[in-house]
Amino acid sequence: MQRLRRYDLKLEFKPEKYLIVADTLSRAFDRSVKKSNTEEEIKAHTDMIRQNAQVSDPMWEKIATHTKDDEELKDVLNAVHFGWESDHAQSLKPYYHFRGDITEIDGVLVKGPKVIIPKTLQGDMLKKIHEGHLGIEKCQARARQVMYWPNINNDIENHIGRCGTCQKHRYKQAKEPMGQHEIPEKPWRKLARSRLIHAVWQELLDGCRLYIKLPRSGQIRRSVVHKHHKSHEIHHGKTRSSFCGCVR
Ligand SMILES: [Zn+2]
Repeated sequence: MQRLRRYDLKLEFKPEKYLIVADTLSRAFDRSVKKSNTEEEIKAHTDMIRQNAQVSDPMWEKIATHTKDDEELKDVLNAVHFGWESDHAQSLKPYYHFRGDITEIDGVLVKGPKVIIPKTLQGDMLKKIHEGHLGIEKCQARARQVMYWPNINNDIENHIGRCGTCQKHRYKQAKEPMGQHEIPEKPWRKLARSRLIHAVWQELLDGCRLYIKLPRSGQIRRSVVHKHHKSHEIHHGKTRSSFCGCVR
């Protein structure tokens, strides 16, 4: 099973009468090729999972100890070793639909590349995940890469919801979304006016993609801006909307 986990298998049924080639090849295999060493391959695969999980050896042992004592995970371990029954116990229900992904490595249960965390260590893991007080989505994404337990996303959400530091700074961190202008269908249909320095305007308006022309002077007086606005209307038609003071 461990050897097959490396492959993305696609099974296709073929009636026996069409299996001529497979049978021919099985009788004419290359005898010079040495048999693979299953044990070595399994070890390489489990080492790869342990390396990817980035869990230190003492921590791995701790998880293994807690897994052994966990009421629910004890049943999962038993099912992994002796088979999953269709009329499985209630404790196996959260794991049954992905039972093919679960295996045991040195006493620790893993789901694919993720370590399954026993109940008694979930609180510690939540604290680790939330170190730095990242938001819910970032914490969930961080956890998704390396660990798993049923309802982990809800637990992360609840943990952050109870975090005093996050609650205290929640509103301070909120950013007002940037207002967006619709792009006008023709030039000069929208005009922005202000007495800002031309260079500042240019920078702002490049981002807003408004069609604008301003006199190339330094500080512009309101009357000058108004005069240029009128001149635009004479040359390009009436402006449908204009903005004063600031670009929002
Ligand atoms: Zn927090």
